[in-house]
Amino acid sequence: MLSSIIKIIFSISIILSVIYFTWGNLFALFSGYLTEDRSVFSIGRDQFCISHINTPANLRGKKLVILRLDDVQAYAWRDISMRMIQDAYRFNAPIVAWVIPKNLGEDLTIIKFLKREHCNMEIAMHGWDHSGTGVNNLQIYYKTEFWDVNYKEARNRIHMGKEILEPLSGKPIISFIPPFNIVSTEAVKAAKDEWIEVISSIGTGVHDYHSTTYNFDKKRIVPVTEVLNSCENAFIKNGLCVIMMHPQDYANSDKTLDENAYRDYYLAMLESLAKDENVVFVTFENLIENRVYGS
Ligand SMILES: [Zn+2]
Repeated sequence: MLSSIIKIIFSISIILSVIYFTWGNLFALFSGYLTEDRSVFSIGRDQFCISHINTPANLRGKKLVILRLDDVQAYAWRDISMRMIQDAYRFNAPIVAWVIPKNLGEDLTIIKFLKREHCNMEIAMHGWDHSGTGVNNLQIYYKTEFWDVNYKEARNRIHMGKEILEPLSGKPIISFIPPFNIVSTEAVKAAKDEWIEVISSIGTGVHDYHSTTYNFDKKRIVPVTEVLNSCENAFIKNGLCVIMMHPQDYANSDKTLDENAYRDYYLAMLESLAKDENVVFVTFENLIENRVYGS
């Protein structure tokens, strides 16, 4: 009698466990967001990101390249951004996707993509709403989202952004780029208090960008040789080249992909960089994890 009661209890607990984990996986697969209680769904989340990138453990002495893809957002140039991220896998390159958090939830395609591919890239924060586009007559940006923002407002914006992005990446967001690369002193402090470890902006800091695929002053795409030359200078200086890219660099005026520009500039750049066996594509997270240029 006692043994059959034990058998029944055992069977019920097995059935309940199966229901619990199956539901967790299904929920993680079909929902746009994970819930705050990540422990319940952690199995589902990890299962559904298939890794395509193999970053070497030892980065010392390598020519490190960070591909910084700005302006990843709901709808605008979204298909180009997704293609750039996926095509980079062939070159063992994890892209650092700089995502604009506001309104991201309206576009389920980008939400599902980032969630499914989070283990092949770094999801980073590109401001909160990318508002403010003032350009003065010297062509210098001002009144951008973070240019003179106070501590409280900056912290609020960064915090809201983290709440949207962290459930997609399943881990803390540690990298931040202010829109137009401009950030106030108070916003830097706010970012640090929100556990941001890397701020990549304009300037000469090690995490700032060293090379760009588009020249906004001259309004022209930058030839691959120029991108590579800027990187060679950066390698000599600090062993790291951060390349700033935008999906719109390879877009037609109607926001569709310009296949020729994409092949001749983007894919050609990746191919040239990957040919150098000392080049390793990394993310800012990799640098922090490996204690290379820790801030
Ligand atoms: Zn931007």
